[in-house]
Amino acid sequence: MISLLNYINGSFVAAQSGETLPVFEPATGLAYAHAPVSAAGDVDAAVAAAKEAAREWRQTSAAERAGWLHRLADGIEKRMEEFARAESRDQGKPVSLARRMDIPRAVDNLRFFAGAVLHDRQDAFDTDRQAINYVLRKPLGVVACISPWNLPLYLFTWKIAPALAAGNTVVAKPSELTPYTAYMLSEWAHEIGFPKGVLNIVHGYGGPIGDRLNIHPDVKAVSFTGGTATGARIAAQAAPLFKKLSLELGGKNPTVIFADASYEEALSSAVRSSFTNQGEICLCGSRILVERSIYDRFLKDFVERVRQLTVGDPQHDDSRLGALVSEAHLNKVLGYVQLALEEGGVIHCGGQRVIPHGRCAGGWFMEPTVIDGLPNQCRTNQEEIFGPVVTLQAFDTEQEALELANGTEYGLAAGLWTSDGSRVHRMSAQLDFGIVWVNSWLLRDLRTPFGGMKSSGVGREGGYDALRFFTEPVNVCIKY
Ligand code: NAD
Repeated sequence: MISLLNYINGSFVAAQSGETLPVFEPATGLAYAHAPVSAAGDVDAAVAAAKEAAREWRQTSAAERAGWLHRLADGIEKRMEEFARAESRDQGKPVSLARRMDIPRAVDNLRFFAGAVLHDRQDAFDTDRQAINYVLRKPLGVVACISPWNLPLYLFTWKIAPALAAGNTVVAKPSELTPYTAYMLSEWAHEIGFPKGVLNIVHGYGGPIGDRLNIHPDVKAVSFTGGTATGARIAAQAAPLFKKLSLELGGKNPTVIFADASYEEALSSAVRSSFTNQGEICLCGSRILVERSIYDRFLKDFVERVRQLTVGDPQHDDSRLGALVSEAHLNKVLGYVQLALEEGGVIHCGGQRVIPHGRCAGGWFMEPTVIDGLPNQCRTNQEEIFGPVVTLQAFDTEQEALELANGTEYGLAAGLWTSDGSRVHRMSAQLDFGIVWVNSWLLRDLRTPFGGMKSSGVGREGGYDALRFFTEPVNVCIKY
């Protein structure tokens, strides 16, 4: 059993209560580590350390901070395989995916913001040749970075990198379900002598830690990625205290496929966007909308491809889907399959738990599931399932496709498949989503604004948007 510890003020410490929680390997259903159950006192200690460290860190040059981010990235890069295996064990995802996507992206996040802060620019305004205004960007001080379990190190670094690059000190909280790679990063930070108190990592359940972080007077901003209900709770606590908030929340993303799209590309991409990471990516397309003239053919071909996806031990290179993150989540997703049946849906494949042979017999696996025959307004098509379950619906016109796509409370990402250039522009302007992927999926440029609208969140991450979020602008007006 591995014992994880909080990382506060450059030291590894247990929770003040001494309590721990079990950390499970989803592929086996067995606990392999313990993490501290931190509460208000631990958060207070981390915030106090971060506040003290902020005095010096905010005075460092951008080049110095960039150097530290690169050194953090070096540690992940050097131990890429170890990080990938650890992420797969902790989260349930295939190790091949962690190797290809999660861990390289964590390195990219750190290196990207190390570069971005060196190339940031400031605005200046000449006022009728009487005054010059320029804009100073000051770090906020102590900021909270709260991340979810689906892309653990990927989203953890996506937050801490811009926060640190902009000159803030951080209290970070990884998900209690997947704390391991953040812990590995703290070990590496310690090894390279990362400045004390600049990066603090507090482990444990979200409620007690979040409830303190969200209202702590010395925490100036909360950058959160997670569920919409948690985001609403954070906003209710932090907004009256005028903290800056960045909330990246849930989604119910449509993939809209027109008959004039490149059929094979749309088909294979739809399989990927539905089931990568067991459907546990906020950007997965969970509602596939297909033009009626190709609907039957598409459904048949799609189901055939999905049936070929291998579910199994995430350590095996041929497993396309690993285990779901927890037993509770598996039961929630299976519950949605039951609900879909009650709502009149037709299950074309999947719908059942998978029990592999051997070491993974106790793991939380599920078949990739394809459902149709449901109206857009039913719960299955409205609520975020966040698992390997996708629905299909047919549409006749562009207008109908738009209404179906926009017809949920969420607005994170939409996929659009067509070869008609005019339609691309018409539809993109009317789809109420923070990201529109045209003839592509998960093609990311870290400079672009990333985030959702409606119940999918408030604010944008990525590029200069993230550096703006983590700084306070000051207008200096000089009369001449
Ligand atoms: P979650 O909201 O349960 O937890 C996210 C994090 O918040 C965890 O670290 C958790 O411990 C913490 N937390 C829980 N209660 C808190 C509180 N009161 N105050 C502060 N923090 C608290 O989400 P999850 O189940 O870990 O992640 C899945 C969700 O995340 C899905 O809804 C998914 O769509 C969303 N997500 C969104 C994006 C995006 O970029 N929009 C990316 C990934 C995941």
